[in-house]
Amino acid sequence: MSESNVKTIPRHAPMNQFEVVNNCLTIGGQAITEITSDIGQTPFYAYDRSVMTEKVESLRRALPQSIHLHYAMKANPMPEVVQHLANETDGLDVASAAELKVALATGTDPSDISFAGPGKSDEDLRAAVASGVIINMESPTEMQRIAALAQATGRRPTVSIRVNPDFELKTAGMKMGSGPKPFGVDAESVPEMLAELSKLPLDFMGFHIFSGSQNLREEAIMEAQAKTFELAYRLAEHAPAPLRWLNIGGGLGIPYFPGEQRLDLAPIAANLTPLLETASKKLPGAEIVMELGRYLTAEAGVYVCEIVDRKVSRGEIFLVTNGGLHHHLAASGNFGQVIRKNYPLCLGNRVNAPELETVQVVGPLCTPLDLLGNRVELPPARPGDLIVVFQSGAYGFSASPRDFLSHPQPAQILL
Ligand SMILES: *Cc1c(COP(=O)(O)O)cnc(C)c1O
Repeated sequence: MSESNVKTIPRHAPMNQFEVVNNCLTIGGQAITEITSDIGQTPFYAYDRSVMTEKVESLRRALPQSIHLHYAMKANPMPEVVQHLANETDGLDVASAAELKVALATGTDPSDISFAGPGKSDEDLRAAVASGVIINMESPTEMQRIAALAQATGRRPTVSIRVNPDFELKTAGMKMGSGPKPFGVDAESVPEMLAELSKLPLDFMGFHIFSGSQNLREEAIMEAQAKTFELAYRLAEHAPAPLRWLNIGGGLGIPYFPGEQRLDLAPIAANLTPLLETASKKLPGAEIVMELGRYLTAEAGVYVCEIVDRKVSRGEIFLVTNGGLHHHLAASGNFGQVIRKNYPLCLGNRVNAPELETVQVVGPLCTPLDLLGNRVELPPARPGDLIVVFQSGAYGFSASPRDFLSHPQPAQILL
C-alpha cells in the first residue's frame, strides 16, 4: 500500500484499551487464549472491568465535580457488570422490572435509581413504586396509573417527567429530539401535565431530557446540553415545587467504524462548567445527572469466536466462524442496514503478521447477512484461530437474536 493510499483509506481508531503480549491480545491482563481455555467454549463475550473504571475516571477528571454520573444498564445488564458500575458511578437507570431487580441487588440507594421507558407494564410500575425509585413518566396516562398505585398503596412515589425536547439541533445537519416521538411528553404539553401533577399524591423531582445516543460530535453534544438547561429553566417555572433533579441524558458516542475518533471531553467539560454554574443559581439544590450506557461499557468488551472453516470462493477467502449475527447483531449490520461497515476486528491469538490477507469473516447462519468482516485485512488464519470483535461491551449479548437458528449461546465473563 502506497503512502498516499494510507492517508486516504480511513482506519479504525487504535484499540489501545487492551495490551498485546507475545502477539496475543489480553483482556484484564489475561491472554485471550487462556481466557478461552478457562471458559471452555467459544463464542464468548469478555468485559474488562479496568477499562470501565477508566471510562468513569476519565469523565470524573474532565467534567465538573458536581455532575452525577449514572449507568444506563440496558447497554450491558450482566449483573456483575452492573455491580461493578454501581460501585464506580453515582446511580443506575433501569428500563424494566427485571433490570430494577438487578439494580436493587447492587445495594444502590433507590433514590439513586431511575426508571425510564415508554409502555411500562403494571408490574413495572408496581415494582417501581414499591422500591421508591424515581419514575421517569412518559405520558399523562402513565402519571394517572402511578397516582392510582399511590392511592392503593398509601405511598408517595417519586416522579420526574421525561420531556420530548422542542429544540432541533442544527449542528452539522444532525437532528436529535423534537418532532413526534413515543418517548416522553412534548415540551409544550409539560406545563399542563405539571398542573395536573400538583393535585396528585406524587413527589415531583424534576425532568429527564434525553436527546440522543451515539453522538461523536462534540459541538452537537455541547449545543444539546445548553438547550437542555434552557428548556429545563422554562419548564421549571410551571413546576409545583423547586426542581431537585435534572437528568440531562448522555449520548456520548464511541468510535465503531473506520475514520471515527474518540470524543474529546475537554470542550464538552468547558461548555458544561458555566452551564452548571448557572444551574446552581437557577435551580439551587438540584442534582444534575448524566446517564451513560454505551460510553461506559462498549470499549471494555470484546466478542470472541472461533474459525471453524476456511474456504475460497471464486478467489475470495472466507473465514467461517462459530459466531455472528445471532450473538452480535450490531457488528453484523443490524439485519441489513443500508451501508454496512465493519466493527474493528483482530485475530486474537496472532494479532500481527508480516503479511496480511484480505478476507471475508462470516458466521454459521444460512444468510448472507451473517457477516462480521467485509474485506478485512488479517494475518493468514486457519480453523481454531480466534476472531475478536472490539467495541462489543454494549448492546451486544442482550441486544442480539440469540435463538435465531438455535446455535449454542455465547458465554459472558467479567475480568
Ligand atoms: C438507552 C438510554 C440511555 C443510554 O444511552 P447510551 O447511548 O447507551 O449512552 C440513556 N438514557 C435513556 C433514557 C435511554 O433510553
